[in-house]
Amino acid sequence: MTEKISRFFEKSRKERLDIVERITGLTKEERQTLESLGGIGFEQADKMVENAIGTFSFPLGIATNFVINKKEYLVPMVIEEPSVIAAASKAAKIARLCGGFSMNNDESYSIGQIQIVETDVESATKKVMETSAQILELANSKSNTLSKMGKGAKEISCKKLETPSGKMLIVELLIDVGDAMGANVTNTMCEGVAPLIEQITGGRAVLKILSNYSTRRMVRGTATFDKNEVGGEKIVDNIILAYEFAASDPYRAVTHNKGIMNGIIAVANATGQDTRAIEAAAHAYAARNGKYTSLTKWSKDKDGNLVGFIELPMSVGTVGGIINVHPMAKICAKILGVSSASELACVIGAMGLAQNFSAIRALASEGIQKGHMRLHARNLAAAAGAAPDHIDSIVEQMIKEGNISINRAKELLNSD
Ligand code: NAD
Repeated sequence: MTEKISRFFEKSRKERLDIVERITGLTKEERQTLESLGGIGFEQADKMVENAIGTFSFPLGIATNFVINKKEYLVPMVIEEPSVIAAASKAAKIARLCGGFSMNNDESYSIGQIQIVETDVESATKKVMETSAQILELANSKSNTLSKMGKGAKEISCKKLETPSGKMLIVELLIDVGDAMGANVTNTMCEGVAPLIEQITGGRAVLKILSNYSTRRMVRGTATFDKNEVGGEKIVDNIILAYEFAASDPYRAVTHNKGIMNGIIAVANATGQDTRAIEAAAHAYAARNGKYTSLTKWSKDKDGNLVGFIELPMSVGTVGGIINVHPMAKICAKILGVSSASELACVIGAMGLAQNFSAIRALASEGIQKGHMRLHARNLAAAAGAAPDHIDSIVEQMIKEGNISINRAKELLNSD
């Protein structure tokens, strides 16, 4: 995919789908699935979760203009919040003028933890480390797929915890999970080696489970935003002040990072990721130095252009979980066109930075309500019962009056 798409937002649904179909090579069946009501029926939902009574669909949109590591992307986003997809596309449009997003990430190492109690931690640690080759071999016997790919359990480490119940040993398995999120294989390996570790240490294994704090799976990257496109030097300076506010104050940082997660979770939803795992790790990382802070950093280059940097753990997969099961996730993966978990992590990281740029640019200039209120007004007009061809006139009238409310939308609807 190598083309810039103009004014995607002004096109009809059919035109948008035609563009996506042409660029990504969607089949007729895939297009039909996209046009359906969310991709899964009750039968499939009933197999996914317990006590199912139905399905619940969300809007799926496409963020345009993204250039990440010199490659063009159409980025599918599943989100209910207005403005997010527009904000991402706008940020990407500005970033591409300076070459787009440059992202990189670590290998896909998950961390599995085995909690050992009722043991002498010091001597147990020594014994575990002496037997690490045998423990790794046993762990790797639990996944033929990873072993065949030269991936799987790679390292073992031990840490001592002081707790109210006394000392405990935490044995950590570092596992290269390839293109999967890897939760299940990590849990399987942890459970698989726990009896051997009990035998070696004479202790008792309590928990054997993946850590979602995936700090060996970081994504990071940067983008430069031309100062004139940002709105001039004053706005660049205001954005840096806004960043410094978030960097210094957890009350601001939580909202700042929530904006980042608007982008990240929307792409994660579209591609069938475990969004709770991504959120949990991101916020823990934001508090890694004991004080919750910004996941991004903003500064100026020597020419006064704005430079953004993002870094956070990113445990995602292109295989496993619902990724190859949910028809919409499969189609979104095809639209996105990533070939590995590593590439997906880079796209999601870039989206976080893009979203943060647009949010703080708006906050540091005209404020966010201006853009938000139009979409909010549309939702209110629809909620008041306006037909699709009537919504625009009600929205315009409410904006003109500066009175955007459900009551006013109802009044305008009834006055026609
Ligand atoms: P999964 O269980 O479907 O396993 C992935 C499979 O893909 C494995 O069987 C592996 O052998 C195979 N595979 C094929 N090609 C591969 C490749 N190139 N690289 C890696 N594996 C390849 O999925 P998973 O990723 O182990 O687990 C993800 C699911 O587990 C998510 O749905 C998540 O919500 C859930 N989960 C999460 C937690 C947690 O976060 N704490 C705990 C349990 C389960």
